[in-house]
Amino acid sequence: MQPSGALHLGNYLGSMRPNLEMMAKADESLFFIVDLHALTTVQNAKDLKKFREDCIRDYLAAGFDPAKAVVFYQSDVPEHAELAWILSTVTPMGLLERAVSYKDKVEKGIAASVGLFTYPVLMAADILLYQSDVVPVGKDQKQHVEMTRDIAIKFNNTFGETFVVPEPMIREEVAVVPGTDGQKMSKSYGNTIPLFGTDAEIKKAIMGIVTDSVGPTEPKDPDACTVYQIHKLLLAEGDAAALAEDYRKGLSYGDAKKRLLETYLAFIGPMREKRATLTDAQVEQVLADGAERARAMAGKTMQKVRKAVGLR
Ligand code: ADP
Repeated sequence: MQPSGALHLGNYLGSMRPNLEMMAKADESLFFIVDLHALTTVQNAKDLKKFREDCIRDYLAAGFDPAKAVVFYQSDVPEHAELAWILSTVTPMGLLERAVSYKDKVEKGIAASVGLFTYPVLMAADILLYQSDVVPVGKDQKQHVEMTRDIAIKFNNTFGETFVVPEPMIREEVAVVPGTDGQKMSKSYGNTIPLFGTDAEIKKAIMGIVTDSVGPTEPKDPDACTVYQIHKLLLAEGDAAALAEDYRKGLSYGDAKKRLLETYLAFIGPMREKRATLTDAQVEQVLADGAERARAMAGKTMQKVRKAVGLR
């Protein structure tokens, strides 16, 4: 996860929750906060520090468990940057030029730096450093894992078998969570419902969801209502059907938002409680242990890599 802003409900349902399910099943897994990647867009030390510290707390509160997975900051393992350089020397320009996400980001107004362009090479290093077999990603990241495979194969062909060639595991399509304006919820659109944050912030976001002008007691179409679209993601099927029926009977948007707020606070309650109990010392300990374990694994791979290419 990139620490590029406060995590939101879309991040939780679309990425964190399915990854937690993976963690429960996998023999060994690594989850890390890719602060070196975030530098392509967050270029203010105070912000990067805050986003990163919030992100690790959010992850631990959400259930990422250092007893089951290696949890760390990417920048605490300098081997990521070292391997990225070596991989960049076997990565064809044409491969990176075909990257869809680079074009998308530049179109959105992000500065076209060399780092943004070579982002997929750093991501390849993130994956290959741990000899990963499987990379669970959303559809949007599939191309990056395919590029990682191409880079691994090119390296192995040039220098001899060194890397495991990883497989993408495309997550089952999770519904796109709409934001408060009805568009895809995204940090960059200012339309998020924060996963953590104060009651007041959450209330403001939910009460601010855009609705149409159908009168308070008139029947409403739940499927045309963003409040309902978000609410149903948090409800069991029967409860969602009952809520839809209330819309048809004329539930007011004000009341619908109050109900969503209640459901949402109950949904995040246990995570919030856990987050509140995390001490700085605990978080530091998790990061130190995670970095040590990750460096031990990364170090083994780098020894092979250095030998393969002819470095000491
Ligand atoms: P953002 O768009 O807020 O910057 P990221 O691109 O950092 O979010 O998203 C990280 C992951 O969170 C994505 O790969 C995706 O799986 C998930 N995600 C983000 N927004 C949504 C959303 N609105 N609905 C479902 N999943 C989402």
